[in-house]
Amino acid sequence: MVKKILKSGDPVLRKKSAKVERVDKKILGLISDMEDTLNSQKEPEGVGLAAPQIGKNLQIFLANYKNFHRIVINPKILEIGKPKIKSKTDDQKHEVLEGCLSLPHYYGPLKRADYVKVQYLDQNGKVITEKFTGFNAQIVLHEIDHLNGKLFIDRLLEQGKPLYKVEGEKWEEVELI
Ligand code: ZN
Repeated sequence: MVKKILKSGDPVLRKKSAKVERVDKKILGLISDMEDTLNSQKEPEGVGLAAPQIGKNLQIFLANYKNFHRIVINPKILEIGKPKIKSKTDDQKHEVLEGCLSLPHYYGPLKRADYVKVQYLDQNGKVITEKFTGFNAQIVLHEIDHLNGKLFIDRLLEQGKPLYKVEGEKWEEVELI
């Protein structure tokens, strides 16, 4: 069932999500709702969705970008890379525009680690250890932030980066609040 996606001011998005105790029918139902909700997003399309975004503070997220599809439960970061920055131009090379379905039409240039190794459970309750790199790592880190009550605008603030509102062809810098 397609659920409503909570917007950035909602307190649910600011809570830490609880661990899933058991991957049971209820959890699989929630995952199915998350899939329906993510697939229903057209303008803009989403590349990931975390359970708190549909009102459930549980440690579950989906990634869905080109042929990268994952259902991730109780993720734990085992290892995280640091962007290798040698110069200012190099610095900008590691920035990728990031957005969020809880803040549709807003984007900011964010720098995230270029790889992350995560241990998690899949929808069958199987323990998986996987290394993600590049844009896939960015999606995974964005979604893990959601499970910790963090939004990408917090990361923009930390990095002193601007936020843009995008309407059609028009880009406008806006205040970060
Ligand atoms: Zn998001």
